[in-house]
Amino acid sequence: MQTIFGPVSSRRFGTSLGVDLSPALKQCNFDCLYCELAPAQPVTKQKEVVAVKTVVDELKKHLNDEIDVITLTANGEPTLYPHLRELIKEIDKIKKNTKTLILTNSSTLTDSRVFETLKLLDQVKLSLDAVSANVFKKIDRPAKDVNIDEIIKALQRFSEEYTKELFIEILFVKGLNDTKEEITKLNETLLRLHNVKRIDIGTIDRPPAYPVEALEFNQLHAIAELFDASLPIHIASRKSTKPTQRSYTQEEILNTLDKRPLTKEDIELLFDVSSQEIFQKLLQNGQITTKKVDKIEFFLPSKNFLRKRAKNS
Ligand code: SF4
Repeated sequence: MQTIFGPVSSRRFGTSLGVDLSPALKQCNFDCLYCELAPAQPVTKQKEVVAVKTVVDELKKHLNDEIDVITLTANGEPTLYPHLRELIKEIDKIKKNTKTLILTNSSTLTDSRVFETLKLLDQVKLSLDAVSANVFKKIDRPAKDVNIDEIIKALQRFSEEYTKELFIEILFVKGLNDTKEEITKLNETLLRLHNVKRIDIGTIDRPPAYPVEALEFNQLHAIAELFDASLPIHIASRKSTKPTQRSYTQEEILNTLDKRPLTKEDIELLFDVSSQEIFQKLLQNGQITTKKVDKIEFFLPSKNFLRKRAKNS
């Protein structure tokens, strides 16, 4: 069974080589409505466990200097892999400058062994789709003993102790976690976290396990604006979000970018042709500028940028 896949080019993480820690079947302690894998009863332990040596031997064959990041993932939840600590230590011996990243649903942070193990990684991406118990249960359909309040406490502690690159991901599903009430609670929770490099908000990009619907791009954009301006929110879903272009005046463009800086793709999805022309003029005459955050280029009003720069300097 193949444990290595890719490399795939990710705008957010660079060239990524994937490691599947559950190659034979789905093994997850959630059964999310939006999961791109088929529905399956949640499990809290892996029954089919791949050997560390198998993963490392395969990884050695595919690893080269072009790879920016080795991404630990699974057909399911990668932190259920019982030899995670040992595997990370073995990868560290061969990875040289390549970074290690894990994509996890955050639930096992409540287990002190997993909590400590994740600190060994260069990058950690934690999912958090909801903070209210009822919404969390509806959308992520976790195993019986998974408790969202405990997860949030562990997540907060992890953000205080982890010294490397921490990312958060929220996936929005129409009619479930996209209410103002839930977004307000998510916002409060996110404001309590420390050292978060980026918060990716997205929606369903691939055919889901259950009949649930994605949001449109302008709905994601409206959600982004509801979060506190100090949070590093980034709209991540683009592949299947319907473009919802509309007309913006010069003032509206500057106000929109002032509230939440946007990427080139955001602008193409949001602004109609004439608004994009106005945007280009503002860019050429210097009223709009660019700022690179991590690997992503954002557009924002120059005045705002200068004001913020002055404040920080
Ligand atoms: S946590 Fe990930 S793998 Fe598990 S059910 Fe949810 S989307 Fe699927």
